[in-house]
Amino acid sequence: MTRTQALRALSEEHSAHNYHPLPIVIAEAEGAWVTDVEGRRYLDMLAAYSAVNFGHRNPRLIAAAQRQLERVTLVSRAFDHDQFGPFVKELAELAGKDMVLPMNSGAEAVETALKAARKWGYEVKGVPADEANIITFEGNFHGRTTTIISFSTDPDARNSYGPYTPGFRTVPYGDVDALKAAMDEATVGVLIEPIQGEAGVNVPPSGFLTAVRELCSAGGALMIADEIQSGLGRTGTTFAVEHENVVPDMYLLGKALGGGILPVSAVVADADVLGVFRPGQHGSTFGGNPLACAVAREVIAMLRTGEYQERSRVLGAHMHERLGALPGDAVREVRGRGLWAGVELNGKARPVSERLMELGVLAKETHETTLRLAPPLVVEKDDLDWALDQLEIALRD
Ligand SMILES: *Cc1c(COP(=O)(O)O)cnc(C)c1O
Repeated sequence: MTRTQALRALSEEHSAHNYHPLPIVIAEAEGAWVTDVEGRRYLDMLAAYSAVNFGHRNPRLIAAAQRQLERVTLVSRAFDHDQFGPFVKELAELAGKDMVLPMNSGAEAVETALKAARKWGYEVKGVPADEANIITFEGNFHGRTTTIISFSTDPDARNSYGPYTPGFRTVPYGDVDALKAAMDEATVGVLIEPIQGEAGVNVPPSGFLTAVRELCSAGGALMIADEIQSGLGRTGTTFAVEHENVVPDMYLLGKALGGGILPVSAVVADADVLGVFRPGQHGSTFGGNPLACAVAREVIAMLRTGEYQERSRVLGAHMHERLGALPGDAVREVRGRGLWAGVELNGKARPVSERLMELGVLAKETHETTLRLAPPLVVEKDDLDWALDQLEIALRD
């Protein structure tokens, strides 16, 4: 038995089977590359679903974490610490908003936004008690809590987890008329991914984000942009809503905010929205901890230079050009922006990701027929080209 087989057997036997990983066991990683327990190297074309935007063990982020490990790591929100104030100020500034509410996982940021929108609806907009509704979109992915899966349209994510949380209305993604028809005086928020990640990197029709913004403003509802996967450089801009020059009322951030080191998420909004929370009304033991704040501050500093957004834009244009030239008998459609692509195949995607792994490239299918590509934004152009060569080979045989 190889080491890989022995370790995979442990996972199979003792881990719940809520994932279907590729048969690889990673031991080390640096930049865009990972090494498995047999010493084989692979180019990471998934980047932990964009949590590793800045590459594995980015030296600046590791140094920030190490400095903080030597000082203080956790105090809870019962006390302030010297990373907290600067972190919330710097993140608010990056998004052009007043305030930040830090959490840990992406799902917690979404839950926080749903609570903020409802509380804002009752206390500011004047919606009668318990009558608020929030609009969501078909194909959405916002996390795994019981409330969030209540408005999922993916049977795998939703089935057998009822009874479901009421108060959500789901309309087709990209359908302005359906959105308009679903909104009423009790609508307090519209929760949207500017590009749907898990659904297969679905880019909405041009003008859709603008229409959502206008309908929210006209109807007195909060536009809540879930940028947990699309934000922080992935699409070639700091936030994906920038592609339509749209400013949402709330930004939800996560994944890359933790620099690939630890989970860090946040809701970023103005004081008229986040100001609804008073002491004791919401919280998290680990949210905004010193280690998380120190790493996230370094992430924010790196984003302020614009260099990662630029890499995503330039290399992303190159990647999409090459993906667009793939043979039409194998590839039905390529979607995405920047260094982010959903490659819609004519057949199943799983065998292609398995073949790619054998060729030294890590990518992952989403649903049956979509191959998702999202390399770290630090990927070298030659490495990216090599990975795309391997994809051509994998699709050919
Ligand atoms: C990953 C993701 C989430 C959930 O984040 P977790 O950290 O896994 O809870 C929410 N929204 C979007 C758009 C995501 O991609």
